[in-house]
Amino acid sequence: MALRTADEFLAGLRDGRRVYARGERVADVTLHSGLRIAAEHGANVYELAADPDLRELFTCRRDGELVSRYYEPLTDREALERRARLIEEHTRRGRTTLNLTKAVGTDALNALTTFAAAAARGGDTPYPERIASYLDRCTREDLSVVLAQTDVKGDRRLRPHQQADPDLYLRIVERGEEGIVVNGAKAHTTMAPVADEVIVLPTRAMAAEDADYAVAFAVPIDTEGLTMICGPLPDPGASAWEAPISSRNVEVESLTVFDRVLVPWERVFLAGEHELAGMLATTFATYHRYTAIAYKLPFAELLLGCAVMAAEVNGTLAASHVREKLATLVEYGGLLRACVEAAARHAVAAVGGQVLPAPVYTNVGKHHFASRFHEMLRVVQDLAGGLVITAPGRDDLDGAETGALIRKYLAGPAGVDPELRLRLFHLIRDITASDFGGYNQVVTLHGEGSLQAQSLQMLRDADLTSAVGAVADVLEAELPTPRGLASALPVPG
Ligand SMILES: Cc1cc2nc3c(=O)[nH]c(=O)nc-3n(C[C@H](O)[C@H](O)[C@H](O)COP(=O)(O)OP(=O)(O)OC[C@H]3O[C@@H](n4cnc5c(N)ncnc54)[C@H](O)[C@@H]3O)c2cc1C
Repeated sequence: MALRTADEFLAGLRDGRRVYARGERVADVTLHSGLRIAAEHGANVYELAADPDLRELFTCRRDGELVSRYYEPLTDREALERRARLIEEHTRRGRTTLNLTKAVGTDALNALTTFAAAAARGGDTPYPERIASYLDRCTREDLSVVLAQTDVKGDRRLRPHQQADPDLYLRIVERGEEGIVVNGAKAHTTMAPVADEVIVLPTRAMAAEDADYAVAFAVPIDTEGLTMICGPLPDPGASAWEAPISSRNVEVESLTVFDRVLVPWERVFLAGEHELAGMLATTFATYHRYTAIAYKLPFAELLLGCAVMAAEVNGTLAASHVREKLATLVEYGGLLRACVEAAARHAVAAVGGQVLPAPVYTNVGKHHFASRFHEMLRVVQDLAGGLVITAPGRDDLDGAETGALIRKYLAGPAGVDPELRLRLFHLIRDITASDFGGYNQVVTLHGEGSLQAQSLQMLRDADLTSAVGAVADVLEAELPTPRGLASALPVPG
C-alpha cells in the first residue's frame, strides 16, 4: 500500500486512543463535535493527493511506486523548492490553515536522517538502520506522523535534572530487553489526537547529567500509557458564512502525557547519548522553520487581499495613508517569499546526503513573519473598521425585518454587494479578532520556537568571520576572532 484515501486515514483514527476533550474521554475522534473538524482538516492531505490536478505536486515515485511527496528525500536544492511549493499549495487548499498531519513528522524524519549519518560517524550505532526502516514504513503505509518536542519544562531557569519533579522533561526511566520505558509530558503537540504516529525529540542540548533526557523515538498514537488532553476546540455550531475558515479548517493541540510508555528498541532513535541531543534538536528546528516560512505565504497573501478589499468596500482605496498601509503588507509577504527562496537557493549540504535549508535565511524568515504578524493584523483591522466585530450575522441578514435595514444601512460604496461586504468583515473577524484570530497570533509567535530561539540560531549560523573581516579590510588591521557570542545569550524557549 502506498497512498491511502481520506476515508482509510479517518478509519485508522478509530483505535481506542486515549484522548480527552472538554473534560471527557473521547470515544471516537472522527465523530466528536470539535475534534471532527480537525480530523477532517487533517484528512485533506489524503484527498488532495488523490486529485488528478494535484498529483504531480502532492506525490512522487519511490521504487516505482506512487508515494506522498511529503516523504520525498531532500537530496538537493530542487527537492527543497518542491517541498516549499507543496506546503504552500497545501496550506492554500486548507483556506490558509496549515496542515501538520504529515509536514511536521517529515521535518522530524528529515532531521533524524541527518542525525543518523552524524551518529554513524561516531562509531557503530543501531540508529541509522532503525531510522531508515521507520522512514520506509511511514512512506509505504502513507502514515500521518506528528512531532512532540516541546517539554513542559517547569522552571525555565533549570536544566532537566535540576527540576523539582524529574518528569518535567520527558526521560528514560528504565532500560530493558524489550526497549526503554519513558515518563513525562510534551506540550502543544499539534494534531496528535488525530494522527497515526508521534515522533518524540529532545527539546534542547543536554549535558551529561541529563543523559536520561536525551531521548528520541516514535510510537503509534494508541500506545498504552499515552494520554492526550486537548486544548480549546472550535465551536461546532459555527457557520462557514460567519467563520469561513475556523468552522472548517483548524488544527488541534494536546498536552501529550507519557506514563511509563514502553518503546520497543527498533523504535528508539536516541537513548542517552547526550552529546547528540542538541544537534538533533536544532536540525529539526531548521527543517521545521523552513516548513513554517512556506506555510505562512498563503496567509500573508490573504491578509493583503483582505486589506485591499476592506479598503475597496469602504471606498478608501485611493487614500494615501491606505496605500501606504497596503504597501506594508506587500513588503511583509514579499520579504517572506524572498526568505523561502533564499533558504532553498543557499541550502547547505548536511551529512548523509541531504541538504539543509540555509539556517540564517530560514530563521530570518521565521523571525520576520512572527515578529511583525500582530502589526499586520492591526493594518487589516485598521483599514476594515469596527464592523469587523460588530457586523450582524447571516440570520439578521435573512430576517424579514432586519435584512432590509442591514442592506440599506450597511451598504458601502455604490455597486458593492452588501452581503459580500458583510462576509468580508466576518472573514477578517475570523482570522484576526475571534478565538481563532487569537490562536493565530499566539501560534505565529510561539510555533516553531519563540522569537529568542530564532535570534539565537541566526547568530549561531551567521558568518561573523566575514563580517569581522570586512572591518579588518577597512581598518587594514588584523582583528581577533570573536569568541563567546552564542554562549553569552540565554537559552531559547
Ligand atoms: C499552537 C502551537 C502549536 C505548537 N505545536 C507544536 C508541536 O506540534 N510540537 C512541539 O513539540 N511543539 C509545538 N509547539 C511548541 C512551540 O515550539 C513552543 O510554544 C515554543 O518553543 C515556546 O515554548 P513554550 O510554549 O514552552 O514557552 P516558553 O519556553 O515558556 O517561552 C516563553 C518565553 O520565555 C522565554 N524563555 C524560555 N526559556 C528561557 C530561558 N531559559 N531564559 C530566558 N528566557 C526564556 C522565551 O524566549 C519566551 O519569550 C507549538 C506551540 C503552539 C503555541
